[in-house]
Amino acid sequence: MAAAPTSPVSPPTTGPGTAAALATEPRTAPADTGTVTGTGTYTVLTGGRVVLPTGTVDGGRVIVQGGRIVGSAPEGAPTVDLSGHWIVPGFVDMHNHGGGGASFTSGSHEDVLKGVRTHREHGTTTVVASTVTGELDFLARRAGVLSELVEQGDLAGIHFEGPFISPCRKGAHSEALLRHPDPADVLTLVKAARGTARMMTLAAELPGGLESVRLLTDHGVIAALGHTDATYEQTVEAIDAGATVATHLFNAMPPLGHRAPGPIAALLEDERVTVELINDGTHLHPAALGVALRCAGASRVAFITDAMDAAGFGDGTYALGPLEVEVKDGVARVVENGSIAGSTLTLDTAFKRAATIDGLGVEDVVRAISANPARLLGLSDRVGSLEPGKDADAVILDADFTLKGVLHKGAWVVDPRTA
Ligand SMILES: [Zn+2]
Repeated sequence: MAAAPTSPVSPPTTGPGTAAALATEPRTAPADTGTVTGTGTYTVLTGGRVVLPTGTVDGGRVIVQGGRIVGSAPEGAPTVDLSGHWIVPGFVDMHNHGGGGASFTSGSHEDVLKGVRTHREHGTTTVVASTVTGELDFLARRAGVLSELVEQGDLAGIHFEGPFISPCRKGAHSEALLRHPDPADVLTLVKAARGTARMMTLAAELPGGLESVRLLTDHGVIAALGHTDATYEQTVEAIDAGATVATHLFNAMPPLGHRAPGPIAALLEDERVTVELINDGTHLHPAALGVALRCAGASRVAFITDAMDAAGFGDGTYALGPLEVEVKDGVARVVENGSIAGSTLTLDTAFKRAATIDGLGVEDVVRAISANPARLLGLSDRVGSLEPGKDADAVILDADFTLKGVLHKGAWVVDPRTA
């Protein structure tokens, strides 16, 4: 933690206002704020309730120069008045299969970028692309394609969900293509991603599972337990081997039983594990979400979308890997067997649900939706909080937690003055 609570929200200081050509100039000219006398290279967000790692500052300031947050601005720097609004860090989604009609598993470069832009318009300024089960060769080639987009800075990494998962808990993954987690195959995918693999979901109770967990950990890839039929004891073993994430806790795993507590108890009780939750009102009952939060605490929860192509797009028929999926009233199901097939969630909706229906404090929601996933992904030096030196990624919400603005690397994706 670099900043005192007042640092990004400190009074303006007169500085040299040096150079700093904006890589991405805010879309709206500063003149329309009516308060501009400065150079235009700075933007000062004022008047809002700023959520910082140390707490919330009413009437705080977030100072942006170029694509970064800085600690001070020259006198007369352009301002944007956000009175009555929340200013929170940009959202970080570590489990996301697509959106805007585009799939991260099969789409072209342009399709993937369309999906990224769709989620960005809903506040997600950092996206990890998740793949679904496919042939090993296909996934290796796909990793090559996605890794280019990671290297370009459009994606924050790759998450392989399958094919090393349990047929008993396959969800919307093609059973014919599932395989045991042979460490050689796991390594093939990790290598194909050329250093951009951030996470792999696997069922560690399968043959080769524990060895694969160790291999992933050795390569700096998060081993996530999910689509698993493991017992409590097997899950404890996998955590001891290095697994640190529960892939969409509760979904695609045995339920909590009083004699067979299964993976849920092991994942919730262990301080080393962060649990993903899909807060769309379909995947989880609000009470289940509440239990997870009370057990794990807000510092060990990550809100994810697990979104598929229909997120931010609409109902219709889609492909999820080789499976046909029907989306009706925003709920995606595999046509063949009725399994829920990912979500159509965007993180602004997850935020609003958490702050209104689930009754979480805003600071806890920010932990679950920005800070925790950023930390897990090893990106805390750049994203996940509103602190000087970090990317100028912020979301503006009104008093009812409806999204009104998105700032990505200093540029307005959604401008709160026109939204
Ligand atoms: Zn998924």
